[in-house]
Amino acid sequence: MDLRCRGVNLQIENFIGGKFIPPLNSKYLENYNPATGKQTSKIPDSTANDIQLAVDAAQQALPLWSKLPMAERIAWLRNIAEALESHKSKIAELESMDTGKPLSLAQRVDAERSIKNFEFFAEHAEQLGEMVFEMADATNYVERKAVGTVGLITPWNLPLYLLSWKIAPALVMGNTIVAKPSELTPLTANLLAEIVSSIGLPDGVLNIVHGLGPTAGQAILEHPKISAISFTGGTETGKIVAKTAAPMFKKLSLELGGKNATIILDDADLDIAAKGAAKAAFTNSGQVCLCGSRILVAESIYDQFIPRLIAEVEAMNVGNPSNEDTDVGSVISMDHMEKVLSYIELAKSEGGIIKTGGKRLRLPPPNDNGAFIKPTLIEGLEINSRTATEEIFGPVASVHKFSTDVEAVSMANRTEYGLAGSIWTSKPRRGKAIAEQIDSGILWVNTWLHRDLRTPFGGVKNSGVGREGGDWSLNFFSELSNICVKDD
Ligand code: NAD
Repeated sequence: MDLRCRGVNLQIENFIGGKFIPPLNSKYLENYNPATGKQTSKIPDSTANDIQLAVDAAQQALPLWSKLPMAERIAWLRNIAEALESHKSKIAELESMDTGKPLSLAQRVDAERSIKNFEFFAEHAEQLGEMVFEMADATNYVERKAVGTVGLITPWNLPLYLLSWKIAPALVMGNTIVAKPSELTPLTANLLAEIVSSIGLPDGVLNIVHGLGPTAGQAILEHPKISAISFTGGTETGKIVAKTAAPMFKKLSLELGGKNATIILDDADLDIAAKGAAKAAFTNSGQVCLCGSRILVAESIYDQFIPRLIAEVEAMNVGNPSNEDTDVGSVISMDHMEKVLSYIELAKSEGGIIKTGGKRLRLPPPNDNGAFIKPTLIEGLEINSRTATEEIFGPVASVHKFSTDVEAVSMANRTEYGLAGSIWTSKPRRGKAIAEQIDSGILWVNTWLHRDLRTPFGGVKNSGVGREGGDWSLNFFSELSNICVKDD
């Protein structure tokens, strides 16, 4: 297979109707490695005209693909998973290059999960049963059909992981796809295009168009032939997505931002909780929507816990993403670094005290122009302060004291978000009771980012609408019709 993603300064193209084609306006965007500041590639700066081509190709492919027996579509998912598996190290390498995340993390999390998503939805779709509801004088048959051509729009923090999480269920349910990955992380989406092309997935079933949100992304939202939008990204962008797509009655799934609490109860094992809280705050430089960026600590153990937490954070090795012992890489871009640093300045002006970190980290070449920030813990902020309530999406977490479980719940709920959270305690039932009172879609007790792909994933309040995962994804990507047949 001729994989064009070989390294630096490659030019990638859109994948439309089974062919790699340049953008119609011949314009390209520059793509950088944020850990070195060096340009790696050029990507199409696509417009509504390119989206039109992709929708035409997807519509043309729809009748055959949607009529294919489910078993054949499941076989395609398995073929894709197998082909991805043989490029696992390439996935990790490209993901690390695009995002600045440690190569080891990209291998363990991004590459593993991207492959797993196809395997999982193949297996899950295989288990779909018939839905038949008997009445005294009639039988109801619930039929599943494809929604049609669907638009998938994804962010940069877990690029192929999140894109494949949508592509796999959409394909298996018989939809054809127009996907737009983040303009900051196009390389693994391009690798996937190369892979599906090499294994002969029918032309037009999966189309990948690169470009900016307000142009290429917006054209997907607005296209009348795109019947569903599955979007993962920021809450402000989510508002635009909803505003555009809802009046067109498109099916809509919105996975948005978070500002999640990590609650350390007075009976927690402090060493385990400190490790857990540090991992929840700083994995992927704090750029996971599920990261726990508000650490709430019972006041009776606060003075014992904080030194342990600081020790865990300071033991994290921030460095060259290619080094095996690197725990934390760069943030996604220089612009994002400036945004995160401005939040640290804001925190200081809000009365925050920097317990560790708090500044840009200058590394030796080849990372001397990289966007690295030391993992930062801030104490002394009001729970309602901007720093403690707005999503920073970087390696910054605030620590706060609470005196009772009731107060911990109230503090956890005091944000506009409701995505995730974790509770650390030696009494799992007490942890579960607290979890039940937190307004979030995903809660963990004594663990974090522990995922069973069959379970519902998504947020409440400004963290999103709808759920992904298992049956929820398969239902989103299908239309159900009930056929009621009266008995003779
Ligand atoms: P973003 O909202 O800026 O961009 C996400 C995607 O939307 C990108 O592909 C972008 O090009 C596109 N986009 C931007 N404007 C658009 C428009 N007008 N129309 C259509 N598409 C448009 O988000 P980001 O900075 O890439 O990602 C970070 C955000 O994603 C954080 O808020 C994070 O919490 C969130 N996120 C949420 C989840 C989740 O599952 N809830 C998972 C990962 C990331």
